[in-house]
Amino acid sequence: MPLWGGIEAGGTKFICGVGTKPNDIRAEIRIPTTTPQETIPQVIDFFHQQEKLEGTLEGIGIGSFGPLDPNPASPTFGYLKHTPKHNWVDFDFVGAIRREFKIPIGFDTDVNAAVLGEYRWGNAQGLDTFIYITVGTGIGGGGMVNGKLIHGLLHPEMGHIFIPHNLTEDPFTGCCPFHNDCLEGLASGLAIEKRWGKKATSLPPEHPAWLLEANYLALGLVNFVLTLSPQKIIMGGGVMNQKQLFPLVRSQVQKHLSSYLKVPEILNEIEDYILPPKLGNKAGLMGAFALAEQAAP
Ligand code: ADP
Ligand code: ZN
Repeated sequence: MPLWGGIEAGGTKFICGVGTKPNDIRAEIRIPTTTPQETIPQVIDFFHQQEKLEGTLEGIGIGSFGPLDPNPASPTFGYLKHTPKHNWVDFDFVGAIRREFKIPIGFDTDVNAAVLGEYRWGNAQGLDTFIYITVGTGIGGGGMVNGKLIHGLLHPEMGHIFIPHNLTEDPFTGCCPFHNDCLEGLASGLAIEKRWGKKATSLPPEHPAWLLEANYLALGLVNFVLTLSPQKIIMGGGVMNQKQLFPLVRSQVQKHLSSYLKVPEILNEIEDYILPPKLGNKAGLMGAFALAEQAAP
């Protein structure tokens, strides 16, 4: 079985790993995300060491924070774009890795990587159209349509859609630096903390924060259901560790759709329609392996 390298590049840390599949991760390392000059050499060292121990890598997959250029035909393929992490703006991520490892390099957003990981080994096996939403510090979303990751002008930015916001019920004006009260501005982990003045982890399950949160997430999902017609919606990220959100989100989705879509998946089997990732906390790294596999001939 081919040996893959995976990089899950996040805003606070990089998780790098080497292996062939979810139950065969040979090594894993965490590296703080500081500057490319500091972080990338440690990534390269790790893969060089692993090649000595485990053998030659057949490909490396990179699932990264964005925005980024995932289009292999573009002159800036493999670059990070105007990311809020200033040190990384216009960084040639794929180029930096390819200079050291002359092997296929897969490159996409962290969330598109998670999409591919769930497709390959997780809860989306056998489907061809589904979405993955991650609710963490921010909100990201990616998906597959007809068996292909969704790309276009750039890549989906599903966290930044606009949804109804009743300022009387929820006077918090939102925390997105670009749009204020887009979905991310209202429902990200950061939004929860700013609205309630407490860490999301410290709010008890019966706190009103969670019903409000579920309602915003459900409004977002309803728009994705109606536009992309996904066969499943997978929801991950730190905030979704609050498992009480799942039943709340499901019932709000049913309420907002108002039995317009008469399909058993939504009317009767919604537990299996809106669900957590099967790969759990391995989703990011497995997504990166899946990107490597996709890039290798
Ligand atoms: P990131 O988005 O930074 O890549 P995560 O997906 O882990 O990483 O998301 C971090 C966010 O999720 C933070 O806002 C944190 O408060 C929130 N979070 C993490 N764990 C929990 C939890 N158990 N309950 C509620 N919120 C959580
Ligand atoms: Zn926004």
